[in-house]
Amino acid sequence: MIPMAERISETLQKKVSDRLSFYQDLGIDLFYRDRRSVATRHREGQLESPATTHFSTPEFQEGETLPKPAAKPAWQKTAPVAPPPSPKIASLPVVAGPSLFESMDKIAGDSLLKIREDLGECTRCKLHSTRHKIVFGDGNPKAQLVFVGEGPGADEDAQGLPFVGRAGKLLTQMIEAMGLQRKDVYICNVVKCRPSENRQPEEDEVSTCSPFLMRQIDTIAPKVIVCLGAVAAKTLLQTNRGISQFRGEWLEFRGRKLLATYHPAYLLRNPPAKSEVWKDLQKVMAVLGLEVKKGKSAS
Ligand code: URA
Repeated sequence: MIPMAERISETLQKKVSDRLSFYQDLGIDLFYRDRRSVATRHREGQLESPATTHFSTPEFQEGETLPKPAAKPAWQKTAPVAPPPSPKIASLPVVAGPSLFESMDKIAGDSLLKIREDLGECTRCKLHSTRHKIVFGDGNPKAQLVFVGEGPGADEDAQGLPFVGRAGKLLTQMIEAMGLQRKDVYICNVVKCRPSENRQPEEDEVSTCSPFLMRQIDTIAPKVIVCLGAVAAKTLLQTNRGISQFRGEWLEFRGRKLLATYHPAYLLRNPPAKSEVWKDLQKVMAVLGLEVKKGKSAS
């Protein structure tokens, strides 16, 4: 029987239970509870001080330490996360013709606000005629990590925010599993208006809209860009190779580290691929200096 004082609220129980199910889906089934306070762990240098990083440490509520993911059991272990190898983008053949972005210089003094103003109530491509809301992007304008998706779906079109539907909920869980919150990162898409019936954006729509994405990335200046799915990866890397040929590899985009992984919507259809994505995200965590759990046992 747990004493009254140690009970946690139903809301927190549900949050913990959802989080545990998510980790289980990723193939992580060993957890430990660190009973020391966050302050103690900061003092001991186990957690980065929030003052020294754009990222906040994981939320701890009601005096409880949320269970943290432990390393996979030995039979599931992947190779230790190595420092990122040198960029390999040169090995990806680019689509014939001039790159969409090679002529785009960084605009001095640009800001997300200015980019949003320049986008205006855009009618530059046919997507404007069926959209409800432009989905510009959301998150920390100084994020070290930017996620780029394909384009808004119905929920995003209704709310004007990226990744708020089912796939978005999964992305949020993935971000939280990394020890971050949505407000720590920046999330945007290749196209800012919903392609009807959730079709993929067409070439002219991508080429019209993606210069705004470029400006967003240049302005935020993240350390790492994660492309969610083939459309984002192919757009930024200007390649027509299938994503499975370079998924999880460190590549380079306009002087920044880029890694492509599967789209959360694909993971909803194909849950076993979640563990591949988790490996990719652990690589990102290593580069960002986020805690990647190793070899802790349950206590
Ligand atoms: N899928 C995307 O690619 N982007 C969103 O914003 C939502 C779903």
